[in-house]
Amino acid sequence: MKTFFSVILFLLSTVLVAQTDQKIYDIINSVSTIRIKSDIKTLAGFGTRHTLSDTVSNTRGIGAARRWIKSEFDSISKDCNNCLEVFYQKNLIKKGTNQRITKDVWVVNVVAIQRGTKYPNRFMMMSGDIDSRVTDPNNYTSDAPGANDNASGMAGTIEAARVLSKYKFENSIIYVGLSGEEQGLFGGQGLAKYAKEEKWDVIGIMNNDMIGNIKGVDGVIDNRTFRIFSEPVPPTETDKQRKSRRFYGGEVDGISRQLARYIHKTVQTYMPEMNPMMVYRLDRFGRGGHHRPFNDAGFAGVRIMEAHENYTQQHQDIREENGIKYGDLVAYVDFDYATKLTAVNAINLASIAWAPPTPSNVKIGGIVEPSVKFKWKKSNDPNILGYKIYWRDTTSPTWDYSRFVGNVDSFLLNGIVIDNFFFGIASVGKNGYESPIVFPSEVFR
Ligand SMILES: [Zn+2]
Repeated sequence: MKTFFSVILFLLSTVLVAQTDQKIYDIINSVSTIRIKSDIKTLAGFGTRHTLSDTVSNTRGIGAARRWIKSEFDSISKDCNNCLEVFYQKNLIKKGTNQRITKDVWVVNVVAIQRGTKYPNRFMMMSGDIDSRVTDPNNYTSDAPGANDNASGMAGTIEAARVLSKYKFENSIIYVGLSGEEQGLFGGQGLAKYAKEEKWDVIGIMNNDMIGNIKGVDGVIDNRTFRIFSEPVPPTETDKQRKSRRFYGGEVDGISRQLARYIHKTVQTYMPEMNPMMVYRLDRFGRGGHHRPFNDAGFAGVRIMEAHENYTQQHQDIREENGIKYGDLVAYVDFDYATKLTAVNAINLASIAWAPPTPSNVKIGGIVEPSVKFKWKKSNDPNILGYKIYWRDTTSPTWDYSRFVGNVDSFLLNGIVIDNFFFGIASVGKNGYESPIVFPSEVFR
């Protein structure tokens, strides 16, 4: 009898797992183009948000900008029964730290934490940048509206907080405005260090940097494609891990890459009109972004951004030359596209924040056998429905095959030749949400 019921439960649950959740569609529909437009205009309206700019004025400079961002988070919090913990996280950067720090400066991030009901110390993060610049990176007085770079990412982050603060999540979500990006990724470095010191269990960060341009400098107009940049493996891996990769694989299966695949899949499921493009590199060629300091600290992190950039509208003095208009102006931002990319973030924040923790101690075995065996540590989370084994051809970017195997801590996958695929395991919650996939870190016989 007991077996009978567990079979029924299993069948029911597989049906549930396959379903999509209406709440995710509600989240997509709640992201407001009007609010995003208004926030980008407000941010661009501070004249310059250069990291070294004025901090005293209430209308111009980075001080005014960060106080306004904090006040937005505070008012969102007020509307949700104080569901956000809002604070400044500051780091003093000394003059001469690099050539772009021409005086001592406080690099100030604005952090808003929506505390998880079950895992208050596990964090899924979304970031945008507060600061902007013109042609000369050290010019902190000229107008630098930074409408796309990166008021768009900042506005998206604030909007995601507005939408998701209406829900409760098991894991914590952090919405953060980072500063000092253009001067050398200082805000991200400061917050990643703070996360380590505070022993935050960081699931990952989605860094949004330029999510509002649809017309590339090459003339291509595309309001559906966006890029998810992720590094292959963490820079913090040990020699032992690197050597083991040579024999067992995993060159393209680091934690940031799994986060990228998770986002890719969520978007294909819920926003089929969009065209997520995974890019297998840390960032654009020779360029940087604020996910990197989190990667440096060993955390999963990706950069989300437009697919076609316009360099005449990035880091430029506002001017006209030979008939070309330069400058990062509000007029060039596509607010509908910024809305879509904000929704991309919001649904992934929600999905991960509703999902159980990833399985730990995931081990794989099966040398010279036409099957694969797995072992992992079960979670004692009562929300766990079970575990799902994923696999894919070694040349495929996405986890194309899967099998739900129930609430067990080992499994023998028969008939699948270990040599011919890569494998991973995710936890599945009773609510249907899945954790990111874990690539096995150990081998057993
Ligand atoms: Zn920039």
